[in-house]
Amino acid sequence: MERMTSNTVLNEIFNNAPCGLHSLNKDGIFIAINDTELNWLGYTREEVVHKMSFGDLCTDEGKIQFREAFPRFIREGSVRDVAFEMVRKDGTRLPVLLNSRANYNEKGEFLNSHAFLLNLTEVRIAEQKVRAKTKSLELLNSIGKSISGQLDLQTIIQKVTDVTTELTGAQFGAFFYNVINDQGESFMLYTLSGAPYEKFEKFDLPRNTAVFHPTFSGAGVVRVDDITKDARYGKMAPHHGMPEGHLPVVSYLAVPVILKSGEVIGGLFFGHSEKGVFTQEAEELVVGVASQAAIAIDNARLFEDLKKLNAENERLLELARVLDIRKDEFISMASHELRTPLTSIKGYIQLLEAKLKEKDPEAYRYVVRTGTSLNRLQGLVEDLLDVSKIQSGRLPFQLSVFRPGEVLAEAVEEIRHTAPRHHIIVQGGVQAMIHGDRARLIQVLINLLNNAIKYSPDADRVEISLTETDKEVTIAVRDFGIGIPAGHHHKIFERFHRVPDNSDFTGLGIGLYISNEIIQRHHGSMRVESEPGEGSVFYISLPVASSEPG
Ligand code: ADP
Repeated sequence: MERMTSNTVLNEIFNNAPCGLHSLNKDGIFIAINDTELNWLGYTREEVVHKMSFGDLCTDEGKIQFREAFPRFIREGSVRDVAFEMVRKDGTRLPVLLNSRANYNEKGEFLNSHAFLLNLTEVRIAEQKVRAKTKSLELLNSIGKSISGQLDLQTIIQKVTDVTTELTGAQFGAFFYNVINDQGESFMLYTLSGAPYEKFEKFDLPRNTAVFHPTFSGAGVVRVDDITKDARYGKMAPHHGMPEGHLPVVSYLAVPVILKSGEVIGGLFFGHSEKGVFTQEAEELVVGVASQAAIAIDNARLFEDLKKLNAENERLLELARVLDIRKDEFISMASHELRTPLTSIKGYIQLLEAKLKEKDPEAYRYVVRTGTSLNRLQGLVEDLLDVSKIQSGRLPFQLSVFRPGEVLAEAVEEIRHTAPRHHIIVQGGVQAMIHGDRARLIQVLINLLNNAIKYSPDADRVEISLTETDKEVTIAVRDFGIGIPAGHHHKIFERFHRVPDNSDFTGLGIGLYISNEIIQRHHGSMRVESEPGEGSVFYISLPVASSEPG
């Protein structure tokens, strides 16, 4: 009785074990099989035991493998962890993991096999899920990368539509979004995935129906297993539901796309003709993509704005170039026109001076002053003419070889004449000769000396030094005047640039520009060292005459 009971228990354990158990004879025929394995395979015990070989439950390929493997198993005594597919009675596949041991008698002859099988169906499903999840993550990752690097709105939106349609398993997806054109009008565009555009063109763009409303008002996600049964569905005239010919939507998912500013730029809409297609997980994925897309769209809009600004900038620059050309033309014309009458006025003034000197000393003094002013005016006109000649590359040069000391002496002489109050001290001297245009170099030196005097109203001293190396001669003009802030050290050599705070001093801002051009034509260089309140030193370096003439 006790034996009976324990046999029953053993039987129960054998049959109800959560794994398949069976035993095969030397020909591979079943001699025992538990209920679990029978249930998996869909056979009855009567159909299997003593009737079927293990090979009969394998695929065609499996049958061949079994015929080869079974004799080897008998020789070797065991197989471990072999994964393969068995065939159920209904023809479907059963993934299993097999472990089996051979039993022998005392003589070492094969008696039977005891096999233990695990059903891998669940494992395969889980693996599939993992694969699907991995694919989603890869897609998400790829969209993240591709849209964050994209600045073209249309491309971003198409990519987002395609990827989210694939992620959700929708039959078709659409991204409806608001755009504002150059005239500031707002209108709606859309991209599609999985459905031809003709299907959509027949219909108005999403109207503010009860179904669409929550998406465009940014209220949130709408995920419905069967939209045809939804209370919001079918409220709008004229169609009351899906217009005829509309893509057949049963499962419905809609996610708003909201920019950082809070503006709902649009919505992602997905449809499927079957019920309950869109999962919570799909919803979360789309919400994630929608927020990435919003950032990308924000960036794309900024980029568009930037492009517009750049275009505007280009236009203004072009305008500035045109104005610059007009200004040059005007300067050139005006200085030419002024030059001739000035020359004749000067001639008459000189005649007047000669006539009045003895006869009318008072009138003579006025005429002399007029002459001085006229000289200044003539200097300005000559400078303006030089500027336009430089601009058009037509500043004439008369070349010769001379001592720099000579031109310096001439310039100093002329300045002493016009600014007798100032002490101009020349230090040093050089042996080298230079090759260039004497008159132009005198013009440069006079300009530097004039500036040194003009911009030092509280000083009466200007120092000039003359030094040389094998290659170059350097003339430095030092004053003790107002100095120049560092930010202007380069700019003062540009055309019309004046230090803004110096409006007390008259000038056009072209003297240094002309000087620098002349020195450069001599293959030399000009620079300034200066500090506000400390005075300035202007350096001119010129190559000695043995080097290439200018
Ligand atoms: P202008 O003296 O007619 O304005 P320049 O081209 O000769 O034109 O000089 C350009 C500017 O450089 C001046 O407006 C002035 O601001 C500054 N500058 C030139 N020389 C000196 C100097 N010796 N001391 C201080 N500022 C100077």
